[in-house]
Amino acid sequence: MNLKINTAKPYQILIERGCLRRAGEEAARVFPGGAKTVIVTDSNVGPIYAHAVASSLEAAGFQSSVFPFPAGEEHKRTTNILGMYAAFSDRGLTRSDFVVALGGGVTGDMAGFAAATYLRGIRFLQIPTSLLAQIDSSVGGKTGVDLPQGKNLVGAFHQPSLVLIDPDTLSTLPDAFFADGLGEAIKYGCIRDGELFGRIAAGGVKDEIEPIIYRCVDIKREFVERDELDNGDRMLLNFGHTFGHALEKLHAYKDLTHGEAVGIGMVMMSRCGEAAGLTEPGTAEKIARVLSEYGMPVSDPADPDLIREATQVDKKSRGDNINLVLLRHIGESFLHPIPRAELGRFMEALS
Ligand code: NAD
Ligand code: ZN
Repeated sequence: MNLKINTAKPYQILIERGCLRRAGEEAARVFPGGAKTVIVTDSNVGPIYAHAVASSLEAAGFQSSVFPFPAGEEHKRTTNILGMYAAFSDRGLTRSDFVVALGGGVTGDMAGFAAATYLRGIRFLQIPTSLLAQIDSSVGGKTGVDLPQGKNLVGAFHQPSLVLIDPDTLSTLPDAFFADGLGEAIKYGCIRDGELFGRIAAGGVKDEIEPIIYRCVDIKREFVERDELDNGDRMLLNFGHTFGHALEKLHAYKDLTHGEAVGIGMVMMSRCGEAAGLTEPGTAEKIARVLSEYGMPVSDPADPDLIREATQVDKKSRGDNINLVLLRHIGESFLHPIPRAELGRFMEALS
C-alpha cells in the first residue's frame, strides 16, 4: 500500500510487509545513485534489523555505515545528537547524501533532527519499527530531542524523503510498546473515523494490523497536509494529550506509558465534554471499554487540581486561552478554546 503526502515537498509512504529488506531498492528511487548514508538505530533495533537494511542499501549501490545509540527515551539527549553529527562528519556525508532513521519514535525524532540541522539540512529516510513510530511519529516531519528542562524542547520541522513501514517488524516489538502505540490508533478512530474505532474495539488487531496502520497514517496525512506547521487543524491530533501530558508529568514519565496516559486523557476529556453538553453521552464509556479490552488503564488516582496545574504549564498551549480537543461523538472532533481561568470549572466533572 502506498500513500503520497502533499507537504511543501511531497513524499511517499510505503506500507508493505518485508519492505525493510528492500530498503536499497526503494531508496534508489528517491536518492541519486552513489550517495552515502549513515543508518541511525538504537541498541535494541540495530542488532535485529540494521544488517538487512545495510546490505540492501549496499546492493543498491549506496555506501552505508551504522551509528548505534543506547535504546530508550532517557537517551533522547543532545549528547547523542552530537554523536550523530560526529558520525556524519567522519563518514563524509554531504548535502547530496542522506540519513536513515531505523527504529522507534526516539530514533526517528533524533535522527530526523540531526538530519534537519547537519549542514543546514540533509535528506532522510524513515524506517519506523514500533507501532507508535509507524502510525504517528515517522509521518509529519516533527523532529526533536529532549532537554533536561523538558521533553522535545528542541526540534525542527523536517519532512523525510521517504517512509518505509514494514509491519513485519512488529513481531519483535515488546507487547507493552505495542499497547502504547495502540493508544494512538484508538485516538485516530476517536477524532476522525468511527469505523476504525469499531474495528479496534472488535479485538484481534495484531492479526490484522496492516489495514489499521494504513488508515491511521492516512488520517495523519490528512491533518498534516492541511496544517504542515501545526498552527490549527493539526491540533486535533492532540486529543487526549492535554491531560495525558499532565499525567505523564505527574508520574515523572515513569510507570505510565505515553499511550496509557493519552488513553486516560481521552476518557477524562470526554467525561468533561459530556458534562458540558458538548460530547455525546456515553462516549467516555465507549473509549474506556476499548482501552480495558487491551489491558490499558482508564483512570488515574491523581488529584484533579494537580492535573489542572500540570495542564496549565503545557508548552503547547499559548496565550490566555487553552485549546481543548473534544469529540462530538466517536469519529468527530473539534477544537474548543476556553480561557485558562475556566479550566477548573470545565474539569469539575472529574472531581
Ligand atoms: P522508542 O523509540 O523508545 O521505542 C520503544 C522501544 O521499542 C525501544 O526500547 C526500542 O528499542 C524498541 N523497539 C522499537 N522497535 C522495535 C522492534 N521492531 N523490535 C524490538 N524492539 C523495538 O519509542 P516509541 O514508543 O517508538 O516512540 C516514542 C517517542 O516518539 C517519544 O520520544 C515521542 O516524543 C516521540 N513522538 C514523536 C512524534 C512526532 O510527531 N515526531 C509523535 C509521537 C511521538
Ligand atoms: Zn501521542
